[in-house]
Amino acid sequence: MRARRADIVVVGAGVVGACAALALARLGAEVMVLERRAPGAKAPTAGVLGEDLRTLALSPASIALLEELGVDEADWAAAGCAYSAMEVWDAEGTGSLRFTAQEVGVSELGRLVPHHPLAFALWQTLALEGITCITGASVTGMEARGSRTTVRLDDGSEVEAALVVAADGGESRVRDLAGIELSVEDTGQRAMATLAELERPHGDTAWQRFLPTGPLAFLPLPDRHGRHRVSVVWSLDTERAIAIEALDDAGFAAALGTAMEGRFGAVLAVDRRVGFPLRQSHAETYRAPGVVLVGDAAHVLHPLAGQGMNLGLQDVRVLRDELRRPLSGLGRNLLGDPDLLYHYERIRRGENAIMLRTMDALKRLFAAEDPGVRWLRNEGLRWVGDAGVVKRILLRQAMGLDSTAGEPA
Ligand SMILES: Cc1cc2nc3c(=O)[nH]c(=O)nc-3n(C[C@H](O)[C@H](O)[C@H](O)COP(=O)(O)OP(=O)(O)OC[C@H]3O[C@@H](n4cnc5c(N)ncnc54)[C@H](O)[C@@H]3O)c2cc1C
Repeated sequence: MRARRADIVVVGAGVVGACAALALARLGAEVMVLERRAPGAKAPTAGVLGEDLRTLALSPASIALLEELGVDEADWAAAGCAYSAMEVWDAEGTGSLRFTAQEVGVSELGRLVPHHPLAFALWQTLALEGITCITGASVTGMEARGSRTTVRLDDGSEVEAALVVAADGGESRVRDLAGIELSVEDTGQRAMATLAELERPHGDTAWQRFLPTGPLAFLPLPDRHGRHRVSVVWSLDTERAIAIEALDDAGFAAALGTAMEGRFGAVLAVDRRVGFPLRQSHAETYRAPGVVLVGDAAHVLHPLAGQGMNLGLQDVRVLRDELRRPLSGLGRNLLGDPDLLYHYERIRRGENAIMLRTMDALKRLFAAEDPGVRWLRNEGLRWVGDAGVVKRILLRQAMGLDSTAGEPA
């Protein structure tokens, strides 16, 4: 069987891969997408109350990229919720910090959106743009020959391209096939995601309580049938997490209400729990001959700041900017040259490494039980809250906005 040909093959049509395919096709590249899931397949994280339990936090910079790529908001935005404030507080003290959109002169800090409607909207956009997607087939092999790389699928077919974009998630097969090492830090924690209905409204605010056992987040979703709904992400030591995951709905709802200090009244209903081990990982390099990594294939971080997807979409933005020149000239056969991808790796690996270290430091800081450290972190939260300039800088960075210019970075 002869291999199909393209300039660029994107492996993985999650949100990051689909955006990469759209962005590179817009530059005039012939792009093909390979995805192991079949179209219409139920999301593995689907809840029983009709929502995908995997919720993504999109910063204004990520939303701007989706708009630029022509992903119709009407297809995904209604499932999500804009949030205009974010509040974090320490369970072991009185320190708390509240950020509001008003402080930085914008109407929202970002949107929380269930994964499935956004991924589905992206698949529709890929089809509208006429980008070839081979679905229901997994990549199992890869071989570089000169300036071209051949990717093998489990149905025996092959696709050949100048560049393979690995967007196949945290367990990336392409990364392994390219021989790229991964540094992994087991956080000793497990996260569970679910959806909860609350007695009191969430106030369009993303709430996060730092408990010594790990952070608990209530992220706003649109009310439905008069019920106030939040997406829950609860990180705990593995042993405790497994015990709590095993509780029945009533027991889990009670534990959740207590862990949130009853701040939203009773927890009226909960969906099934999707648990996953919390590992932070970072690829040693983002490039190999004929291959480049983006999104979770390159970096997986603790969900406590909700930045996983935003970092992946920043990778896409920078990769597109770096490939603009070769795609506009005669450089298509050079697309897989690692030298060409040097700047992409330098910019993105550096920024992602800072975010990974920050998550690690935050997790350790809030897990510390030493009274001195507890006092310091409560004072620190208060100090940041009072220091308007520091707060604004932190906020703009979390939103993916340049801290001085006010435009998407
Ligand atoms: C179970 C789970 C729950 C999560 N919950 C949250 C949450 O609540 N909040 C949050 O902010 N983040 C959450 N995350 C993290 C967040 O989903 C990721 O940061 C983000 O989705 C990364 O996007 P991606 O496109 O890089 O990878 P993914 O979304 O993992 O997409 C990878 C794609 O590649 C495909 N693929 C994989 N292997 C192959 C192969 N060999 N051949 C072809 N295709 C392949 C997969 O089918 C998938 O479509 C969660 C992650 C998981 C796994």
